[in-house]
Amino acid sequence: MESTQRAPSERGPVRAVLIDVDGVLTVSWKPLPGAVEAMERLRADGMPLALVTNTTSKTRAVIAERLAGAGFPVGADDILTAPAATAAYLRDHHPGARCLLINTGDVTADLDGVRLVDAVEADASGADVVVLGGAGGDFTYQALNQAFRHVQRGARLVSMHRNLYWRTAEGLDLDTGAFLLGLERAARVEAEITGKPSGAFFAAALDRLGADPADALMVGDDVESDVLAAQRAGLTGVLVKTGKYLAEAVEAADGTPDHVIDSFAGLPALLDRLGGA
Ligand SMILES: [Mg+2]
Repeated sequence: MESTQRAPSERGPVRAVLIDVDGVLTVSWKPLPGAVEAMERLRADGMPLALVTNTTSKTRAVIAERLAGAGFPVGADDILTAPAATAAYLRDHHPGARCLLINTGDVTADLDGVRLVDAVEADASGADVVVLGGAGGDFTYQALNQAFRHVQRGARLVSMHRNLYWRTAEGLDLDTGAFLLGLERAARVEAEITGKPSGAFFAAALDRLGADPADALMVGDDVESDVLAAQRAGLTGVLVKTGKYLAEAVEAADGTPDHVIDSFAGLPALLDRLGGA
């Protein structure tokens, strides 16, 4: 199939920017050098923006509070999270389903309209959907084995993302995607993904801004889930060399980012070059 998509170099001015949070604006919730100033500059220029994050450990309200506390000019309405997108997906595609959630962190405030069952209820009366959130202490053998058994019995497998690792102040930590690969392989199913790299997640964020993918940039530190996934959805992809960035991951990726910049602090200069707002 031939693509009619315009190459980034042939595109018009940038009219919207989607921004990943962890590894781009912050690491372990501490602002990266120059990130606050860069976002202030985007705001001053009137650039429409949305934060799109696979963070599964905090609600939109808590993320907004953390970022505002660190000096970023953002509120909860600017933030789209994988858990919020997952709730919308479950309401649309699996209404009323009994959902067994495995997640580290409490995001129930962002899971409006989702019928959650705990491990005991799921074993007693079944689960229709197994939902994987973010990896951490709650991803025990027992929890993952229970998920495996429910999927084997016919429950659908939904995952908020398939990130392999993320950057903390101590180094890289293993994330959901690593466990998901094993679960998919063992149960011979493919998970329905609701956060990045799902095209629907980028589309929902652009919808809120009233922007067309061809006029939008996505900035992230994950070459696959942020950058190449956004490029597949028709956006221009911008990779930053902070957070989880690894040169070998970029080399191994099956695509090339449209732009690579040292950090988010360099975004205003890139936007000046591309034109926009
Ligand atoms: Mg990130």
